[in-house]
Amino acid sequence: MSGENWVEKARLFAHDRLAPLSEGIEREEGIPPEILAEMGRAGFFGLTIPREYGGSAASAQDIAGVIAAVSRANLSVATHLAVHLSVAAAPIASWGTDAQRARYLPRMATGEWLGAFALTEPWAGSDSQHLTSRYASSPDGFVLDGAKTFITNGGRAHVVLVFATRDPALEARGISCFLVDHGTPGFSAPRHLDKMGLRGSETDELLFENCRLPRESLLGKEGEGFKIAMTALEGGRIGIAASSFGAAQAAMDVMQSHVGPDDEDWKKRALARGYVDMEAAGALVERAARLKDQGADYGMAASAAKLYASQAAFRIANAAVDVAGPGAAGRLFRDTRVLTIVEGTTEIQEFILGRRLAQADLPSRRSPAR
Ligand SMILES: Cc1cc2nc3c(=O)[nH]c(=O)nc-3n(C[C@H](O)[C@H](O)[C@H](O)COP(=O)(O)OP(=O)(O)OC[C@H]3O[C@@H](n4cnc5c(N)ncnc54)[C@H](O)[C@@H]3O)c2cc1C
Repeated sequence: MSGENWVEKARLFAHDRLAPLSEGIEREEGIPPEILAEMGRAGFFGLTIPREYGGSAASAQDIAGVIAAVSRANLSVATHLAVHLSVAAAPIASWGTDAQRARYLPRMATGEWLGAFALTEPWAGSDSQHLTSRYASSPDGFVLDGAKTFITNGGRAHVVLVFATRDPALEARGISCFLVDHGTPGFSAPRHLDKMGLRGSETDELLFENCRLPRESLLGKEGEGFKIAMTALEGGRIGIAASSFGAAQAAMDVMQSHVGPDDEDWKKRALARGYVDMEAAGALVERAARLKDQGADYGMAASAAKLYASQAAFRIANAAVDVAGPGAAGRLFRDTRVLTIVEGTTEIQEFILGRRLAQADLPSRRSPAR
């Protein structure tokens, strides 16, 4: 154990440094570079990276606490951090060769290099088994062709995990994952997407045209890409759930600062509903992160936390607009809408949970894991 109190450190940073800049980050549609540099120096970009590569290998509970604290101040900054940690650095740490880990992780741990994750395509979002981006073997490696959309930090990241299929007919079995460096010929990011919320977080379209990759760019084995993506997303769901909990706290902060003892009852009831929703979300996040730390199967807990917390955050932000008005709560309302979409929509979480719950031999049918 490093003995570092990550959550307290993140709370202080979020409160003192980030919160005052939050409205500006939305208005300017970007995160000040000095804030990212500070986060790098604080060690936040290395939380999912092993110590031998300069990270801190923090617990899932600490990482969730950090993401929640940052989200309470600003969801765009939290998204920037959470994607790098959960679906870029963590899969490289888990699936990378020694050479890949040595090349990427030390610089990702300091935040000098940022990671992105490119699964979604214009015609394959939830249905991610049916990718159309193609790769083929070449004498010196691979050639990649295709397009990705909605990729957080895709155009500015130093390394992007890109998922492509050898043959669409193979569905999940045909998918492999490649580490594509920024600046690789044939790789471009032609367009930033204009979003209703989360405007401080960059979301890009990516294009791969006759993009030649060395053999060493393959992450894991050929055909393991879908498994890499699904494992990364399972962990990432705790991150989105934690973000949602932090956003729910922020919406409660706004409501509480606008409701006093003499205010109407409907406002106090909105506070009461929000409080219960927020506490329930926090408990689900805590449980999923604890199961992950224990090395237990945490997939259902992560889906449940993501499903509930993302909806709770949007409900509370919606109530905050009623209570405090769009000036005070508008950014939260716009930012929280995306939480039910990313890393598996609400319907996809229902699908994952329903499929598992319907299994006759599921151990938790009679005594849910605690
Ligand atoms: C701000 C933002 C950042 C993102 N960042 C990334 C990123 O970094 N990397 C990345 O790879 N992707 C990213 N995404 C993409 C995101 O993961 C997808 O938007 C999401 O998976 C949904 O895919 P889709 O948009 O194609 O919607 P669709 O899959 O077309 O879904 C549309 C609607 O139909 C529902 N639906 C779909 N299939 C079913 C079904 N079988 N049963 C019932 N309902 C269904 C969905 O739940 C949803 O409500 C990002 C998206 C946004 C908005």
